Amino acid sequence: MFTQVKLSYDFNALEPTIDELTMVTHYTKHHAGYTNNLNAAVEKDVSLKDKTIGEILKNLDAIQDVKLRTTIRNNGGGFVNHNLYFSTLSPTAVKEPSGALADRVRKDFGSLDALKAELQTQGAGRFGSGWAFLVAFKDGSLKVVTTPNQDSPCMEKDGGVPILGIDVWEHAYYLKYKNLRAEYLKEFWNVLDWSKVDENYQKAVS
Ligand code: MN
Repeated sequence: MFTQVKLSYDFNALEPTIDELTMVTHYTKHHAGYTNNLNAAVEKDVSLKDKTIGEILKNLDAIQDVKLRTTIRNNGGGFVNHNLYFSTLSPTAVKEPSGALADRVRKDFGSLDALKAELQTQGAGRFGSGWAFLVAFKDGSLKVVTTPNQDSPCMEKDGGVPILGIDVWEHAYYLKYKNLRAEYLKEFWNVLDWSKVDENYQKAVS
């Protein structure tokens, strides 16, 4: 049984960057929906029993029923992507990475500002619904990628591990920012807790 990450803050705690109604709807409707649908879907294929979500998403091709495979791709992706997203937000966000991640950001992007700009540009440029991710590889290197829908980089054999995910679906920002996705992406950094991204990086490269 897959469960939503517990929020370490209240629904209104990320105001004014992310408004309370967006948070309530996003967590208790969208994310809960993906999670419930995933749990119902894995029940339908005994070969998925006891597998981790990472194992399932890495081996989607092994799911024989094409319709079930699509359901698990969409809802399993939605499940992991939102667990990542919500767990890296905080009303008392640490505003920059430290240690090994800080060093690697400088090496691969030149500066933290350059990395943020890359995530904003790629997130704004993702047509329709999707995600912008910072992905880490075993050799320590970093890459910015985007995916459509609820796809996750971890669905690909060599996709690396997403350590930061920015939801660019309209449901993540439309109530407050309306059509201005770029504004949401600019403000997003107010609530992104780099100490959580540090932790994710350590796990990804260890
Ligand atoms: Mn979402």
